[in-house]
Amino acid sequence: MVARHDQTTDPELLAALLQARRGTAFFARKLNELSDAELDGDTLLPGWTRRHITAHIGYNARAIARLVEWAATGVETPMYASTEVRDHEINFGATLSPIALRHLFDHSAVHLNVEWRDLPEDAWNHTVRTIQGREVPASETVWMRSREVWMHAVDLDNGASFHDIPEPVLERLLTDITGAWRTRGTDTGLLIKVTDRNLTFGDTTSDSPTVVSGPLASVVEWAAGRGHAGVTSAVTATGPGTEANTSSVPAAPKWI
Ligand code: ZN
Repeated sequence: MVARHDQTTDPELLAALLQARRGTAFFARKLNELSDAELDGDTLLPGWTRRHITAHIGYNARAIARLVEWAATGVETPMYASTEVRDHEINFGATLSPIALRHLFDHSAVHLNVEWRDLPEDAWNHTVRTIQGREVPASETVWMRSREVWMHAVDLDNGASFHDIPEPVLERLLTDITGAWRTRGTDTGLLIKVTDRNLTFGDTTSDSPTVVSGPLASVVEWAAGRGHAGVTSAVTATGPGTEANTSSVPAAPKWI
């Protein structure tokens, strides 16, 4: 008989699991507020309807559950056979009936949760590989899921905003996004200032950076490519006789 509570006792991991479960509940709430007809509506993601997002979130739970099973059994089970297979699956899922789509979301979320709950303490350290080829401990799957459910709940575009996302999730998102820019070298000359948290990200070495600033939720919204409400931009130069010029907010570099 399997226990009905998490096998891990790591407080950090338990907190992360709670964040992912809250995100899943938040996504479920926004999805349930939509009528079947409204599932056909547009989202914040170009070319994707709410059907695509719901299918993606459902198949994402299955893919992440495969990684957790891999960690549990030692038998390699990749997230997806390939990115083409993943994309094809989403396009197929988007054609499902509303009830089938809702079941896909519900069942896949429950399944993933059971896989997490029953994963033995030591197996959380086992290495698995993401679709991007990154080798990570199984514990990373919790964050991988968390960022999907929180962000795509906003993408459904029926009232959720980045302000609904908990601050630890926003901060980690911004760390991920700016880290991806750094890896690609696309953050040159771009300095990000989070005004309500006194945090700085991006290129801190430039003498005349373009500074994008605003409160955490707005900055993450911009950095994730979801618009620039609430952020301002200025070009600064150091040295005598120079001053900041307010300018239009540049589009954030791609991060995914
Ligand atoms: Zn996604």
